[in-house]
Amino acid sequence: MAENLNLFTSTQDVIQEALHKLGYDEGMFELLKEPLRMLEVRIPVKMDDGATKVFTGFRAQHNDAVGPTKGGVRFHPMVSEDEVKALSMWMTLKCGIVDLPYGGGKGGIICDPRQMSMGEIERLSRGYVRAISQFVGPTKDIPAPDVFTNSQIMAWMMDEYSRMDEFNSPGFITGKPIVLGGSQGRERATAQGVTICIEEAAKKRGIDMKGARIVIQGFGNAGSFLAKFMSDAGAKVIGISDAHGALHDPNGLDIDYLLDRRDSFGTVTTLFDNTISNKELLELDCDILVPAAIENQITSENAHNIRASIVVEAANGPTTTEATKILTERGILLVPDVLASAGGVTVSYFEWVQNNQGYYWTEEEVNEKLYKKMVDAFENVYTVGTTRNIDMRLAAYMVGVRKTAEASRFRGWV
Ligand code: GLU
Repeated sequence: MAENLNLFTSTQDVIQEALHKLGYDEGMFELLKEPLRMLEVRIPVKMDDGATKVFTGFRAQHNDAVGPTKGGVRFHPMVSEDEVKALSMWMTLKCGIVDLPYGGGKGGIICDPRQMSMGEIERLSRGYVRAISQFVGPTKDIPAPDVFTNSQIMAWMMDEYSRMDEFNSPGFITGKPIVLGGSQGRERATAQGVTICIEEAAKKRGIDMKGARIVIQGFGNAGSFLAKFMSDAGAKVIGISDAHGALHDPNGLDIDYLLDRRDSFGTVTTLFDNTISNKELLELDCDILVPAAIENQITSENAHNIRASIVVEAANGPTTTEATKILTERGILLVPDVLASAGGVTVSYFEWVQNNQGYYWTEEEVNEKLYKKMVDAFENVYTVGTTRNIDMRLAAYMVGVRKTAEASRFRGWV
């Protein structure tokens, strides 16, 4: 049978198994197997050439039993309804794992910002907010950055919402520039969270971070900051990649140089001749492999060839269910996406708290709080995994779904 590459249905399968292990019946799965609400909008945008183009966007709210829904907005040509649904379910899991008072949400627009001018991106961002404005809000559903969206886009969205709301609403969205109520440390938070998971996983496997050989697939927000943190920590980043190809140097790459040369979408390998393919990159001999790019990268096709002892998923959904089984059977420690990439939403929560109280923390305070959340989450998931003798993905789903299931039960929804 061909392996399941549909993120939505494979997520449903793991949620079902996790609920089962927690002792919930099918009724709970019926509630949690899909978002409670899903909005599809069409957004007309005046393009620079004078023509109007109509874009399709989505906003999914998986479950708000615990609190408002929370999650990023993705701008990408491959955005689809199923993807947004799956991503909103992952946000429920992430928020549960790091114990935030939120449920999961997610948004997306089918577009290619790499082919658009800044003016077109601004008009699209504002149009999206107008289209979803009744559906979201600081105590309802709080958007944030995701693939190909950034603090400038969050600023335009916040401004548009504030104009409609007729007062300044910084808590409507997170990932904003610092001068508009953004939090210290938000931009690097995802990579910081991944770093903490790598360090904790390395301790479990007795790997010394000094000189550890790291391979990172993807040089976007998460991958590039992570490469910097790893090389600063004395590890050897021996491979990195972008959508066009990969670079390999067994003696360690010059990360500062690569960061300097990368464009705003994370492209850098096009400047080099001696590249290898993304496929070869994933199969390099290394200690820690970090897929930080896109989904379905480690599948039943290549899972047998992975030579890392630890795989930490910084991207959403890079390893299939089948590949998770193969890696686990081979004794490779897999730290799943819903845990490893939860640093971003954690600092988004800190940003929202600071917006609500109107009092702002220093970068040290933010980092300290993030560190505690991530270490506690890692330990919790690792312990569930080892005591129940299950892989860390299933353990993370059990930890992640529990709070929402409990809250739904107390509210009398199931
Ligand atoms: N888009 C990020 C994620 O997938 C962050 C979401 C947020 O900060 O709300 O976790």
